[in-house]
Amino acid sequence: MGDTIVVVVGAGVSGLTSALLLSKKKGYKITVVGKHMPGDYDSEYASPFAGANIIPMANEAGKRWESETWRELKRLVEEVPEAGIHFQRCQVQRRGHDLTTDAGFPVHAFSKTPWYRDLFEDYHDLPKSQILDGYDSASEYTGVCINTAVYLPWIVGQLLKNGVVIKRGIIANIKEAKALSHTGQPASIIINATGLGSIKLDGVRDSALYPIRGQVALVRNEASPMILCSGSIDGPGEELYLMQRAAGGGTVLGGTYEIGNWNSEPDPSVALRIMSRVVNARPEIADGKGIAGLNVIRHAVGLRPARNGGVRLEAEDLDESTSIVHNYGHGGYGYQTSYGYADRVVKLVSDIRKRQRGAVANL
Ligand SMILES: Cc1cc2nc3c(=O)[nH]c(=O)nc-3n(C[C@H](O)[C@H](O)[C@H](O)COP(=O)(O)OP(=O)(O)OC[C@H]3O[C@@H](n4cnc5c(N)ncnc54)[C@H](O)[C@@H]3O)c2cc1C
Repeated sequence: MGDTIVVVVGAGVSGLTSALLLSKKKGYKITVVGKHMPGDYDSEYASPFAGANIIPMANEAGKRWESETWRELKRLVEEVPEAGIHFQRCQVQRRGHDLTTDAGFPVHAFSKTPWYRDLFEDYHDLPKSQILDGYDSASEYTGVCINTAVYLPWIVGQLLKNGVVIKRGIIANIKEAKALSHTGQPASIIINATGLGSIKLDGVRDSALYPIRGQVALVRNEASPMILCSGSIDGPGEELYLMQRAAGGGTVLGGTYEIGNWNSEPDPSVALRIMSRVVNARPEIADGKGIAGLNVIRHAVGLRPARNGGVRLEAEDLDESTSIVHNYGHGGYGYQTSYGYADRVVKLVSDIRKRQRGAVANL
């Protein structure tokens, strides 16, 4: 029997990582199709805007995705420098008040005794002297920060090396993907990794999806360790974080976490508040000169593809010869769960392939 024809729709971190892990297996001809590709900046394409760090956000029951991904990200830092990821210490700063509201980042991330204290070898609580003004407690561990402008093209390079064909394309209905394989043959498996696009995509139209708007400032200034706070003095939806990317990628100053807000334009007053929160918390990033000491590369907005009920990771049949594997709805944690979910996508694809082959053999 010949190779299984697979079309992956979506070239964000979810689609690219799914294609990457599948491309390491024998017996598949894979095409990746996307409206946006690495190098594009459009708020509806979330992946370029992420910090991107790892601060586990799942509750203990859902820890496998972040645990599995952490192991692979760590390996990439240690063995694959060209992937554009480096180790960085991460300080988690908490206010008790934020743990009683669901207006901001998921509260599990800010537990005083998170399950992930066993995941990071050097996780420890910080002394009072390192707790930011206005916060109640803080912890620190060595995590990673991904330079998305290097990392996504690195995955593209790995895919090309593994024989995957990547092309632009916009589909209006998921069934159109069936005809988009570079081989000219119909796809028997479609991987749907369209993020927020699945709200409008016919054949999917998932009304559980919604955006969480994230406005950030990318600056040339550098500062370490990373900071991630449970909330900020500027109220719900206004966050305080700082992540220095690997390999000259600048530092991402954040930000906002605005549930249900589709506004794709950076708001200048929000930008001022973001920068002011960061220079107050970490004056040395701007040599003590306040906002005037920041050298801005750009202000930007990305829409996190969130979903009521969490990520949709499941298979369904499109017709008698084609199945779809959905992998979308990763909210604010698409990088830090990417390898866990992609590994599961590969297992679902492999099960479908066996079933389809069994059906053909029984004809
Ligand atoms: C400001 C900000 C900070 C973040 N920080 C972090 C962080 O520190 N750590 C972390 O893990 N995550 C972070 N995230 C979340 C992370 O960026 C997302 O979870 C992740 O990028 C989602 O990836 P995705 O591939 O599912 O979706 P996307 O990146 O949105 O990609 C969707 C793809 O589908 C394509 N597509 C959609 N519809 C169609 C269609 N009809 N036809 C063809 N193609 C289509 C798009 O063109 C695109 O290629 C952050 C996000 C933001 C905005």
